Amino acid sequence: MKILKFGGTSVGSAERMQALVKLVVNNQSKLVVLSAMSGTTNILVEISEALYERDAAKANGIIDELQEKYKKEISKLYQSEEYLNKADDLITNHFNYLRSFTLDMFTSNEEKAVLAQGELLSTALFHFYLSESNVKSVLLPALNFMRIDENEEPDLKYIETNLKAELEKHPKDILFITQGYICRNAFGEIDNLKRGGSDYTASIVGAALRAEEIQIWTDIDGMHNNDPRFVNKTHPINELSFDEAAELAYFGAKILHPTCILPAQKRNIPVRLKNTMEPEAEGTLIANLDTKVGIKAVAAKDGIIAINIKSDRMLLAHGFLRAVFEIFERYKTSIDMITTSEVAVSLTIDNSKYLKEIKKELEEIANVDIDENQTIICIVGNVPKNKSGFGFKVLEAFKDIPLRMVSYGGSPNNISVLINSQHKKEALMSLNKTLFNY
Ligand code: ASP
Ligand code: MG
Repeated sequence: MKILKFGGTSVGSAERMQALVKLVVNNQSKLVVLSAMSGTTNILVEISEALYERDAAKANGIIDELQEKYKKEISKLYQSEEYLNKADDLITNHFNYLRSFTLDMFTSNEEKAVLAQGELLSTALFHFYLSESNVKSVLLPALNFMRIDENEEPDLKYIETNLKAELEKHPKDILFITQGYICRNAFGEIDNLKRGGSDYTASIVGAALRAEEIQIWTDIDGMHNNDPRFVNKTHPINELSFDEAAELAYFGAKILHPTCILPAQKRNIPVRLKNTMEPEAEGTLIANLDTKVGIKAVAAKDGIIAINIKSDRMLLAHGFLRAVFEIFERYKTSIDMITTSEVAVSLTIDNSKYLKEIKKELEEIANVDIDENQTIICIVGNVPKNKSGFGFKVLEAFKDIPLRMVSYGGSPNNISVLINSQHKKEALMSLNKTLFNY
C-alpha cells in the first residue's frame, strides 16, 4: 500500500478536488491523507480566538462567512441534486456544531474540536465527490486510530493495531481516505499534531502500515537547493538521505513538517515529495540512500536568539556546562547550535518564552550576553570527515558578512552558520553563487 498526502492547496477548491481524482484512481491500493482546504485552519483559529474572548457575534460572523465559502465550492464540485444535498447537509451539520460553542465555556479542549472540523470537512467532501464520480472509496475516521501518548508522541503500537483493524473491515477495497492532523490524546479527547501536522500523519500511518512509499503532494516540485523567495534561481533536489532531509526540514525548508520524517525513517519507508500542479515532475525522493558527496541545499531559520555565556572560571571546569544545560532543561527550551571556547560558550534557542528566567539563572554563574534577530543558515549535504574543501567553500560565501557562530562536526550532513537576520538574503544569494554556480 502507498500513502498519498495532499496539502491544503491540493484540496483548496472544487477544481483542485476534481483534479485530484486522476492522481488517486488506479488499481494500486492506497491510503489518501488530506489536509483541510487551504485557509480553513487559519479561520478556525480565528473563530477560536473570538470564542476565547466570549465574542459570540464575532465568532458567528466568521463562521457564517466560512460556511458561505464552502457553499460556493460545493455548488461547483457536484453535479447531481443528490450529492449537492448530501454535501449541504454535511456542511450544515459541521457549521452548526461550530455555532454550538458560542453558548458555553470555551477551553483548549473545545478549541481542538473546532480545529478538527477542517480535515473532517475536506475528507468527507472528497469522499462524496469520488462516489458521485462512481469511484468506490472508504472514509476512515482518523479519530478511531490516530493517538498521541502523555508526552504528545504518536502511539505507534495503538495506531498500528487500530488502523489495521479499520482496514480489515474492508478487505476488497483499495482506496481509503483519512484526515491528516487530527488525533486523540492519551485521555481520548480530540487533539491534533500541531499546525502543518498532516505530513506527520502521513509519515506515521505509513510507518504503522509499513507502507511501500509515502508521497507528500504539495504545490512545488520537491525540496529546492535554496529558498526561491530570496534567490532568483533554484533547482529541485532529486534525492536526499533521511538525515539530510531532517536537517533541511528543521532548519527552515517549509515544504516539510520538521518531525515528519522520523516515523518513516524509523521503519525505512521512502518518502517522495511530489507536485500536484506538475505530477510528471520527478520531485524529491527521501530514503535510506547513500547520496552523492557534496552540498545539496541551504536553508535559513529566522527568529533565533544567541546567548553568550562567559564563565569567571575555566569553561571546562567540571560541571559548568552541565549547570548551563540544566537551566535550559528546566525551562524546556531546546538548544539548536552550540560553539565553545576556553572561556565561553555560545548557544542558540528559537523559543524566547522563558528567556528572562533563563538569563536570570545563567547570570548567577556567568556573564551573559544576548543577541536577538539572528538567523541560522544551514548548509546541508553529505560532507564526510575525510573530504576537504567544503568548509572553505561555505565560508568563502560569507567573506563580506559578519559571522556570529559557525558549527560543523556534529554530523556529516550539516554546517550551520549564525548571522544577523539583516544579512540573510545576501548570505543565501552568495551561497547560491559559490555552492551552486547561480
Ligand atoms: N490543516 C492543518 C494546518 O493548516 C494541518 C495541515 O495542513 O497540515 O495546519
Ligand atoms: Mg501543510
